[in-house]
Amino acid sequence: MSARLLDGNALSAQIRSELQPGVAAFTARHGRPPGLGIVLVGDDPASQIYVRNKLKAASELGMRADLERLPVSATLDEVLAQVARLNASADHDGILVQDPLPETLGPHAARIVFDTIDPAKDVDGFHPVNVGRLVQKRPTLVPGTPLGVIALLERSNIPIAGARAVVIGRSDIVGKPMAMLLLHRDATVTICHSKTPDLAAIAATADILVAAVGRPGFVTPEFVKPGATVIDVGITSVTDAAVIARLFPEGHARREAFARRGSLVVGDVHPAVAAVAGALTPVPGGVGPLTVAMLLSNVLRAAEMVVGPA
Ligand code: NAD
Repeated sequence: MSARLLDGNALSAQIRSELQPGVAAFTARHGRPPGLGIVLVGDDPASQIYVRNKLKAASELGMRADLERLPVSATLDEVLAQVARLNASADHDGILVQDPLPETLGPHAARIVFDTIDPAKDVDGFHPVNVGRLVQKRPTLVPGTPLGVIALLERSNIPIAGARAVVIGRSDIVGKPMAMLLLHRDATVTICHSKTPDLAAIAATADILVAAVGRPGFVTPEFVKPGATVIDVGITSVTDAAVIARLFPEGHARREAFARRGSLVVGDVHPAVAAVAGALTPVPGGVGPLTVAMLLSNVLRAAEMVVGPA
C-alpha cells in the first residue's frame, strides 16, 4: 500500500482563491483593503523566509501587507511600542509578531508581546483571550497551522467525528490548539509529548496521527496503524548528512538534492510511513502552505469583525 498524498499546495491555492471575492468586496465597501502588519525583530534566516512568504501571499490576494522591521538590538519596549502602533492603526486589521523573538529580549518576551496584541487583530490566535475562546468553542481567531490541518482533513473527506486522534506535541502554537479543534469536531483525542511512555504504541491506535515535534523522521512505521491518516507538521532544515542517510536510501532524489544543496527541509514523519499510512501530508508542500492560507483567512475575518463584513 502507498499512502494517498494530501496536496497542501493545491488546497492552499484553492482556499486563497476562495478568499479573493471577500477581499475585493471588503475593499470596495470600505475604500481600503484588509490590512496585515507583520513585526519582524532581528534577522533569523528562517523567519525572514516565512515573513516574505506571508507578505507575498497577502499582497497577491489584494490585501495591504506591511513589514515593520526592528533590529536584533531592539528593546522589549521598542517592540511593544511597534505593536501598540499597529493596534491603533486604522489600516491594519491583523497583526502578527514573527516567532521566535531574539533571546536577548528575555525568556518571557514572546508572552509579553503576544499579550499586547489587540485580541481582535490577533491573527495568529496566540492571545490568551483567543485561546480561552477556542477552549470554550466560541468564535475566535485560531492559529493558522492547526486550522490548516483541519481544512486539509475536511476537504480530503477524512472523517474526524468518532475518529481516534493522537497529537504528538503540546506547544501553544500547534499541539494544544490542534487537539482542541479535533476535540470540537468530536474526535477522541490523546496528546503525547516528550515525557509520554510507550509513545509508539499510543500513536499506533490513531486513525488520525498529527506529528508536531520538530524531530526529523521521528514517526516511523511502528507508530502508524495501517491505513491511518498521518499529518506531518514538522519542518526542520537538516544539514547533517547522517540524518539524511537515515531517512532516504542511496540514490533517492531527495538525498541527491541534499548532496547538491547541503541542506534539506524534512518533516517529523519517516518516508517509510508512506507504505503503511492511508493518507499522508508531504514536507514540503503539505501543512506549510495551508498555514499561510489560513493566516490570510484570519486577516479577512479580523477585518470583517472590526469594521463589518462587505
Ligand atoms: P515546540 O518545540 O514548541 O514543541 C515541540 C513539541 O514536541 C513539544 O510539545 C514536546 O513535548 C514534543 N516533543 C519533543 N521531543 C519529543 C519526543 N522525543 N517525543 C515526543 N514528543 C516530543 O515546536 P512547535 O512550535 O509546536 O513546532 C513543532 C514542529 O512543527 C517544528 O518542526 C516546527 O518547525 C513545525 N511547525 C510547522 C508549521 C507549519 O506551518 N507547517 C507551523 C509551526 C510549526
